[in-house]
Amino acid sequence: MNVYDSHRMAMMLENEGYEKTDKQEDADLVLFNTCHIREKAAEKLFSDLGRALIIKNERLERGFDTIIGVAGCVVQAEDEQIFKRAPYVDFAFGPLTYHRLPQILKDIETKKKQNVVDTEFPAESKFDFLPENKALGGCSFLAIQEGCDNFCTYCVVPYTRGVEYSRPVKDVLDEAKKLIETGTLEINLLGQNVNSYHGEDENGKERSLAYLINKLAELDGLKRLRYTTSYPADVTDELILCHKNIGILMPYLHLPVQSGSNKILKLMNRRHTRETYIETVQKLKEANPKLEMSSDFIVGFPFETDEDFEQTLDLVDKIGYIQAFSFKYSKRPGTPAATMDGQVSEKVKKERLDVLQTKLFGLQEKFNISCVGQMFDVLFEQHGRHKGQLIGRTPYMQNVHAAVTGDMMGKIAKVKITNATTNSMEGKVI
Ligand code: SAM
Ligand code: SF4
Repeated sequence: MNVYDSHRMAMMLENEGYEKTDKQEDADLVLFNTCHIREKAAEKLFSDLGRALIIKNERLERGFDTIIGVAGCVVQAEDEQIFKRAPYVDFAFGPLTYHRLPQILKDIETKKKQNVVDTEFPAESKFDFLPENKALGGCSFLAIQEGCDNFCTYCVVPYTRGVEYSRPVKDVLDEAKKLIETGTLEINLLGQNVNSYHGEDENGKERSLAYLINKLAELDGLKRLRYTTSYPADVTDELILCHKNIGILMPYLHLPVQSGSNKILKLMNRRHTRETYIETVQKLKEANPKLEMSSDFIVGFPFETDEDFEQTLDLVDKIGYIQAFSFKYSKRPGTPAATMDGQVSEKVKKERLDVLQTKLFGLQEKFNISCVGQMFDVLFEQHGRHKGQLIGRTPYMQNVHAAVTGDMMGKIAKVKITNATTNSMEGKVI
């Protein structure tokens, strides 16, 4: 979501006459887009800001001014406090008001205002005020839903991104068409709970994610479709059917379970149990036997015992994820779990994370190695380290390095996998 937001902010800045630079020493404006989901992500901002101040002072000696801005969820959570810790920050705004960036910048550039902060939850939708989106390459993100009403007891999202909001069907389709026209072959629909999507159609009728996927699948030129992140309890039969019927829907689904213990899931205020989760995955795999799963896990949530953690390991074995993200529980101010008794020590959290990650990386490696000798459609997205080498992704989101001839960037080619490790694969374009 932050990658998408940053892309939209960069496009607004281009409209204001700014251009991108790879060197911070050359930047007249530095804008950090921030994440507040775990303490580590939030703290990173302040070390980055410290470095930005050093560069700002060096630039000042050379006679150049530097504007420093902060965007995103850290601002929504910290508000004016940002200026207490970093008084040299010129402006800051939350994730729901970034459409106001041009006006804020004008006020700062003309020195009309200082230390501007905008953390409003505005009545208007920012999407109605953003310039048209354009593709950067063959793969694009498209935000269709934002905010969350689930209030998992560990999570800041409902407080930083606000209540759940779904963009109208027409807006999503129009943005998708624009992305395809400008070179996109793959769209990844985004939302904090993307499968809770309930945007209105032109008759004011609320439509589901499954409806939207069917509509998008009708667009000429779209070759691949994904959606992330889904909330397990909101996976409907209609959505499961899409995995059977919609050919461009990729056979890879990120469905965060967080824990394999029902006791912990209840304390987390998740609306699924390990049994309902397993049942949902089974139904999805029946709809598309080629479907593979990924997930998020939190270890060391308050009151998590060794037995609860064993249940998580057992669930991993049962599902057999091909990729996953796992985190130590991080106390977030203002969330119910932060003040729960039964907090788990850092030492135990680290031990459990090591055990879980060893298992998850083992599964990932096993899957990648099983792909050697197979042929996949790979969409090339980045330059590799060697001349003539590109890096692309398979339908399962694995990175593949391959030597190419001609201009294959942003295009799809058939690639035979020749070698695989935990994190990447090599292949030969056929
Ligand atoms: N909406 C998605 C869901 O409910 O499954 C998850 C979105 S959340 C922004 C991304 C991931 O961050 C979560 O799945 C969770 O694993 C992790 N996360 C959120 N809060 C956390 C916390 N306080 N400590 C550790 N990990 C956290
Ligand atoms: Fe956070 Fe996801 Fe829970 Fe919403 S559903 S509170 S985004 S973890």
